[in-house]
Amino acid sequence: MIDFPIEILGILYNVQEEEYKGMNEGNLGLCDTTNCEITIRSGLTPDRGFETFVHELTHAILNEAGYRYCDDEGTHTEDFVERFSKALYQVILDNNFEEIKKYFYERG
Ligand SMILES: [Zn+2]
Repeated sequence: MIDFPIEILGILYNVQEEEYKGMNEGNLGLCDTTNCEITIRSGLTPDRGFETFVHELTHAILNEAGYRYCDDEGTHTEDFVERFSKALYQVILDNNFEEIKKYFYERG
């Protein structure tokens, strides 16, 4: 069961797994910036679940950075989030960020 906190630009969000909570039929996840909750639909494969998490995380980051959601125009559109979060998901999966951080924070 997914249930953990995450800091997003100084705001504490909770990530949880639930069935259909507030979601439209085709949605796999939900980012509720009012209640600071990211919900991932339960029963997804690990890949689809993590991809969905990165997608919803991108919504949360943009919102906390001041880019309010608007699906018609601007920076925070569904199209942008879909494309960017796909790329981010793959970069996160393909690299070990704990190791990469060591190169910067633990170099002598
Ligand atoms: Zn979205």
